[in-house]
Amino acid sequence: MGKVYLTGAGPGDIELLTLKALRVIKEADIIIYDRLANPDMLKEAKNGCQFIYVGKEDGKHIVPQDDINEVIYQNALKYENVVRLKGGDPFVFGRGGEEALYLKERGVEFEIIPGITSAISALAYAGVPITHRGISVSFRVVTGHESPHKKHSQIPWGDFKSDDTVVFLMGLHNLDKICKKLIEIGKERDFPCAVISKGTTKEQKVVVGTLEDIVQKSKDLPTPALIVVGKVVELREQLAWFGADE
Ligand code: SAH
Repeated sequence: MGKVYLTGAGPGDIELLTLKALRVIKEADIIIYDRLANPDMLKEAKNGCQFIYVGKEDGKHIVPQDDINEVIYQNALKYENVVRLKGGDPFVFGRGGEEALYLKERGVEFEIIPGITSAISALAYAGVPITHRGISVSFRVVTGHESPHKKHSQIPWGDFKSDDTVVFLMGLHNLDKICKKLIEIGKERDFPCAVISKGTTKEQKVVVGTLEDIVQKSKDLPTPALIVVGKVVELREQLAWFGADE
């Protein structure tokens, strides 16, 4: 039986791949990968390495998670070095924990290779420090994808009243609802926020606005994109250093 490396691929800029991730990619017999912001890293694999794509298209899973778990397991029975490559960090909304549990239950050895998460690095490339002395003393990374049909939201909306930073992943299609909810809990309509699309890549786009106008301003942005709500967004005016503006 082989070993599975649950590996973070970083947010997009290929140079944000860790040395450890690069090593296991080079040594892999098979790479099972998602829709990565940068598929160029697959070119680092050795001759004869197999590839299986199990990504998402427009938010829809091409392969259901249960099947992905099974694909990883079956390949661990066949190959020595199995790399499960995921965007960003495997444990930040990457379902890496579910995959690790599935392998654990079946006695398959695994290793977790953390990756640079988009939740922090896309802000860095947008010139938005996720914390900043005197402005934000904490940050939250929240799913923007919670089913609106859920009777009781698990998201602690009331906690977001402060000026601290809140980053929503997987939330672009719910941006309207998110902004309305934040206004509902008492945030000012002109509270600063931004949408960062394809962060850290050459196609990075950043749109800055307020809870009131960000939906309109960011409507044409492509995914993957995240939403950052916080006073720290205002620092971008001075700290923007990478890529083009909308
Ligand atoms: N494990 C990943 C997140 C997976 S959830 C990580 O740590 O980055 C997928 C969500 O991540 C997307 O819907 C989007 O909100 C965000 N995302 C991933 N890559 C991104 C990028 N390059 N720029 C902006 N957002 C990104």
